[in-house]
Amino acid sequence: MPDSTYRRTKIIATLGPATESEQDLTRLLQAGVDVVRLNMAHAKHDWTREVIRRIRTISQKANHEVAIMMDIKGPEIRTGDVDIPIELRPGEIFDFTIKPGADRENSEEIRSVDVNYRNLVNDIHVGDTVLVDNGLIRLEVREKHDAHIRCCVLTPGTLSSRRHINLPGVRVNLPSFTEKDRADTLVGIEEGIDFVALSFVREAADILQLRSFLKEHKSKARIVAKIEDQSAIANLDEIIRATDVLMVARGDLGIEVPFQDLPIIQHRATRTCLAVGRPVIIATHMLESMISQPMPTRAEITDVANAVYEQADCVMLSGETTIGKYPIECVRVLDKIARRVEEELAEDMPHPTVFLDERMKFMRSAVVMANEFPGSRIVTFTRRGLNAAGLSAQRPARAPILALTDSLSTLRQLRIVRSVEPYFIGPFGDPEKTLVRALDMLRDAGRIKVGDKLVIISDVITTDDERVDSIQLRTVG
Ligand code: PEP
Repeated sequence: MPDSTYRRTKIIATLGPATESEQDLTRLLQAGVDVVRLNMAHAKHDWTREVIRRIRTISQKANHEVAIMMDIKGPEIRTGDVDIPIELRPGEIFDFTIKPGADRENSEEIRSVDVNYRNLVNDIHVGDTVLVDNGLIRLEVREKHDAHIRCCVLTPGTLSSRRHINLPGVRVNLPSFTEKDRADTLVGIEEGIDFVALSFVREAADILQLRSFLKEHKSKARIVAKIEDQSAIANLDEIIRATDVLMVARGDLGIEVPFQDLPIIQHRATRTCLAVGRPVIIATHMLESMISQPMPTRAEITDVANAVYEQADCVMLSGETTIGKYPIECVRVLDKIARRVEEELAEDMPHPTVFLDERMKFMRSAVVMANEFPGSRIVTFTRRGLNAAGLSAQRPARAPILALTDSLSTLRQLRIVRSVEPYFIGPFGDPEKTLVRALDMLRDAGRIKVGDKLVIISDVITTDDERVDSIQLRTVG
């Protein structure tokens, strides 16, 4: 029996000029956004503080706390300024220089631009590819010199100031957590963000570095590792184990790897996350055409559906909600596709992973029980979100996971986790009294009604005053 009030797949929307006003943000949240993303590549600190406070105020007014994800830029290679845009012609020889005014032979004939990557000449090889402006312009490295590389234009285009550069397959020796990232993250910590998304994660050590920074500054923010280049793919398993959440950042990834590999990487990353119980986000170009059109393309509909079929936790909007003409419609489209596919999904769910950990085996038993009672709901109590995330990792066929927590930050962080609907219940007390309070609250919220079957994961107190874990089956009276 489908539950029409409930969508298992979560929606992340990136904030920008199209959605930052109080009115637009309110509509965005009403349309069903679970997590708001701030892309620090484009954000100033004053703006960041202002919008975080605005999101919190609107969430409180609506009694629907969403999570805030700060996406920090990480190491990024960019071209310098050019006086006027350069039209690069096919076959043209062009130089990238690492020092302004570098000494170059034939400099009067060969045009050039600076790059902000001092190790470029050391790290790149003759025959490598240089991609400019999100892969629109393609060059091949022909010669290396002390302070410049000489390239041949393969795919022409117009090069303007400060364009993004990708070097597919090159191990870029830039710090993974830059000075700008530190400054941005500190603002986020002060404002109480829920997630930090680290761009261009290359290995588990990058995540550990950010984790110790967060710990040092007493932040409870969880880490989202964005995989976007070939190093991340080579180290995928260790990255998934080290992170709290994984993002398949298809924008850069689709440039850094052969494009035909992208669906294979997405599938592998999603399967590995499911196997170890890590939430996974599928990001970028989900509804790209809706930046300017009110309807998605057939291919986009199928791409979103595929992410839901793969049982990803979240789908994400970027340009669609930052600068797009139809941001609210985009959220509605994701919502509609996810709900429709989820209706079908329970029928042919692949078997979830069998976890060896004792706690996960316990959760698995609860999920098996819920799957046996169509229309049932899972009710759990969770302080740090571990119980709820453990249940979600078992991918219940239909039952929502109604997670009651005594912590607002846990509530927000659970917004990213598939199938979990978090509720704030205040301090936990005697288990049976807390359960009665929870059921009253869920009844008032219209989430349970008389006759519903509930699979409840809760402590019980024995006659010897001992707390033991229990899985109970109750019918709402
Ligand atoms: C991406 O590359 O897909 C991505 C999400 O990162 P950004 O938007 O920061 O480029």
